Amino acid sequence: MSNAAAPSSHGRLQTILLFAGLLLGVAVGQWMHVNEVSVGAWWNTAGEMFLLRPLQMIVVPLVVLSVATGIASIGDPSRLGLIGSATIGFYVSSMLIAATLGAICVAYFQPGAGWSPAEVEALVRQGGEAFNADATRAQRMTAGESMGLGGAWQSIIGSILPKSPLAEAAAGNTIGVIAFSILLGLGLAAAGEAARPARAALDGFLAALMVVIRWVLWLMPLGLFLFVAGVVGKIGLGAASGPVGKYFVVVMGALLFHGFVLLPLMGVLLGGGNCWKLMWRVRRALVTAFSTSSSNATLPVTLEVTANEGGCSKRATNFVVPVGATINMDGTALYEAVAALFLFQWFGVDLTFGDTVIVVMTATLAAIGAAGIPSAGLVTLVIVITAVNTSLAGRGLEAIPISAIGIIIGVDRLVDMVRTTMNVWGDIVGAKVITRLAPDEA
Ligand code: ASP
Repeated sequence: MSNAAAPSSHGRLQTILLFAGLLLGVAVGQWMHVNEVSVGAWWNTAGEMFLLRPLQMIVVPLVVLSVATGIASIGDPSRLGLIGSATIGFYVSSMLIAATLGAICVAYFQPGAGWSPAEVEALVRQGGEAFNADATRAQRMTAGESMGLGGAWQSIIGSILPKSPLAEAAAGNTIGVIAFSILLGLGLAAAGEAARPARAALDGFLAALMVVIRWVLWLMPLGLFLFVAGVVGKIGLGAASGPVGKYFVVVMGALLFHGFVLLPLMGVLLGGGNCWKLMWRVRRALVTAFSTSSSNATLPVTLEVTANEGGCSKRATNFVVPVGATINMDGTALYEAVAALFLFQWFGVDLTFGDTVIVVMTATLAAIGAAGIPSAGLVTLVIVITAVNTSLAGRGLEAIPISAIGIIIGVDRLVDMVRTTMNVWGDIVGAKVITRLAPDEA
């Protein structure tokens, strides 16, 4: 049974304002870009104040409350085991499917092939400059290269079992906070009668936070306008043309295909119902993800709309969505596979089938390891490239430089907006699927 709410007049007004903010943001941004109006940091700061900060402020307490109450409400350990494994199973499979789709698209459309040596050289030089333009980012990427695949695993496992959940919360690392909240939820369930007041108190706090989120939603159209206008004004839609244009079209096309076709099909097959309608119902989360490029910052909105408008059970939503915001990134996995294969194609390296499998697997790992913040995927892309470089070195072939990532930096923020939207959409489809296993009590 669906408990999706019918759109209220408030909801309708919010939708109109949201789409108006979005379209106006693109139009004003492009106008500023074309007319060479300097787009100062002001736009980003204002967007942050109106949208990002209020959402970010809520994220950590929300994760603790929703995961702990979600787990406590499921209670039975064997049921929890089933739901936990189904959630992780769904997330990993959907990311592998996304990365495979990306690899197939690059093999078929060959976005990096067919350029003259002079064009290749010019772009590689420009890419190197773009890579080094941001010294901190370049340093993080180079550090990622020396960390390698083993280091990536170590860092993921290390953040799942942190020394202090408070330190993780302060640093904005939600994986550690989730691990703590799962333990707290298990304890709340196991303590039975003695923990009843604590469970009721946490439920009450969660309900209160949900009200706060609804207030924040009213700020969204303005924040969204400011963000989108700032990004488009700085980059301009024309950045997606030229030599990287083909890459841009392939990655965007694959992301949209995954989001509009594959994910809804998975949702329909495993969760039932009409997932295209669900997509429309949860539009506020998708639009927030698009404008903020952050799954973490979008989490409050995702939780609100998935259970209320999306008709997914609160039990499933409260557990599945926060976990998904941190580890489930279909859009990022797909993008990392496309970007890595594109760069090797650009350098004229012939990859074997085995190399492509390495790309798909490491793109999934890199997506799991990416934080739900803007550009995180760009940084973890290093893991994928390094893994293939290691395989090439084993066969005595020349590696490509990490600075090659600079080639796609110019369009990355635009790609980030769409891949984050698909990341969040994947979490919502996950909640839909798990609702079958964890429905709310009638
Ligand atoms: N911005 C993405 C997210 O928050 C991560 C990425 O850069 O791919 O989901």
